[in-house]
Amino acid sequence: MSEDLFKKIISHSKEYGFVFPSSEIYDGLASVYDYGQNGVLLVNNIKEYWWKSMVQMHENIVGIDSAIFMHPKVWKASGHVDAFNDPLIDNKDSKKRYRADVLIEEHIAKIQDKIDKEVDKAAKRFENFDKTMFLTTNPRVVEYAEKIKTIEARFKNALENNDLDDLRQIIIDLEIVCPVSGSKNWTEVRQFNLMFSTQIGSLAEDSDKIYLRPETAQGIFVNFLNVLNTSRQRIPFGIAQIGKAFRNEIVARQFIFRMREFEQMEMQFFIKPGTQKEFYEYWKSQRMAWHQRLGISKEKYKFHDHIKTAHYADAAVDIEFEFPFGFKELEGIHSRTDFDLTQHQNLSGKKLQYFDPELNESYVPYVVETSVGVSRLFLSVLTGAYQVEAMPNNEERVVLKIHPTLAPYKVAILPLVKKDGLPEKAKEIFDSLKLDFYAQYDEKDSIGKRYRRQDAIGTPFCVTIDHQTLEDHQVTIRHRDTMEQTRIPIADLPATIAKHTSWNNLLV
Ligand code: ATP
Repeated sequence: MSEDLFKKIISHSKEYGFVFPSSEIYDGLASVYDYGQNGVLLVNNIKEYWWKSMVQMHENIVGIDSAIFMHPKVWKASGHVDAFNDPLIDNKDSKKRYRADVLIEEHIAKIQDKIDKEVDKAAKRFENFDKTMFLTTNPRVVEYAEKIKTIEARFKNALENNDLDDLRQIIIDLEIVCPVSGSKNWTEVRQFNLMFSTQIGSLAEDSDKIYLRPETAQGIFVNFLNVLNTSRQRIPFGIAQIGKAFRNEIVARQFIFRMREFEQMEMQFFIKPGTQKEFYEYWKSQRMAWHQRLGISKEKYKFHDHIKTAHYADAAVDIEFEFPFGFKELEGIHSRTDFDLTQHQNLSGKKLQYFDPELNESYVPYVVETSVGVSRLFLSVLTGAYQVEAMPNNEERVVLKIHPTLAPYKVAILPLVKKDGLPEKAKEIFDSLKLDFYAQYDEKDSIGKRYRRQDAIGTPFCVTIDHQTLEDHQVTIRHRDTMEQTRIPIADLPATIAKHTSWNNLLV
């Protein structure tokens, strides 16, 4: 995977109306992005895929939409005021700021890369290659693995004890250099709270400090009782929500992977204490399968257990995706115990419990959470879809092979020429389809150029209207991925497009 591919995806996103830097005419705002005319359609489809699979397809999950602003005590109870920190470190020469934990994690990933390379090399060299045996007997690989184990143990210890001095010392001992200056001239490590704050109230004197929510989950916890009392849900059941979250990220790079304003799709599943392991495993496998239905190579996904679980969790795993800059977190699945509800119960003085008729007793439910960022999913879809293919005459086409159900536009209607009644016929077809499918009409430039434009935004079907159409009421339909062209009756168009772009293909 390469820098080069990443740059190409970023510039393609801009050139074809998927993602624009925020306030670009003022040179942009760091780590804030806008979705363009095609991007917003893809975003909406991604959200719909998630919402349908969570809320519509599960009788025991309901959705809500809570406000971004919440009572400041929410963030005290949740632990965000005291503990939602990242350890940051500056390089004195480049004046660049980094997350100390990320510097160490990247160092570990580099050693892991070396192991993977040795494995690849050996697998090519020996027939009947036994990977497990190789990992335990090859001296170089064993040495690398030992190194990782030692670093991870020390790293975990430093994080758990909030030992900022040792975090810095690990960076020094591993001789990690600043990628910009190349120097090892590091400052102390400091904790930095990631929440944005503002004031509520009309007068400055009597205004109160409130926060822009850093996660949507708390909006679900504080509504637990409301949903329980107004729905017919009984444990186990879930509450899902899609909404904006804000974090003042220290390392704000990597395009839309890490933004300061982003959207989360979170689901909290309320369960009986003691059943958390079972539901944690259940949601782990459900969520992995959900991603893998998008048609992107399964090898691009893997689980990554957390070295240190967050203050609220007794188990946590990431689904990582191989972005152009390596495997990184796409989604988190956390077993949150009864931490949040208990904290809110204590601070609010309101009972947040469930009466279990079978046990004939009340308890604070446990929670398993699934949490995924819309923009990370968007970037995974683009990364999996972006392909450059060689064409005859030394030409190439850039095609986004997005799952047809998620594609921004489903069909483009193209009259072969701009005369002889073809545009009129094409418009008629366009009008008959546009209510049911996002459709584009395009009559400008050669048919080849128009195909390329649709390939570049991932439109699964191009329909061409030619002179013969006026006589036999048939059109040519071109498939994006294979470029295969077939002739079908106009009357068959809706069913053909629907078959390939239906939610059935993802949800059933
Ligand atoms: P990271 O370690 O990458 O900062 P995190 O572990 O803090 O992520 P969570 O708090 O578990 O992330 O948030 C759940 C999900 O929300 C993540 O898996 C990710 O998809 C998304 N997310 C978190 N922070 C951001 C961000 N700054 N920009 C975009 N998406 C984000």
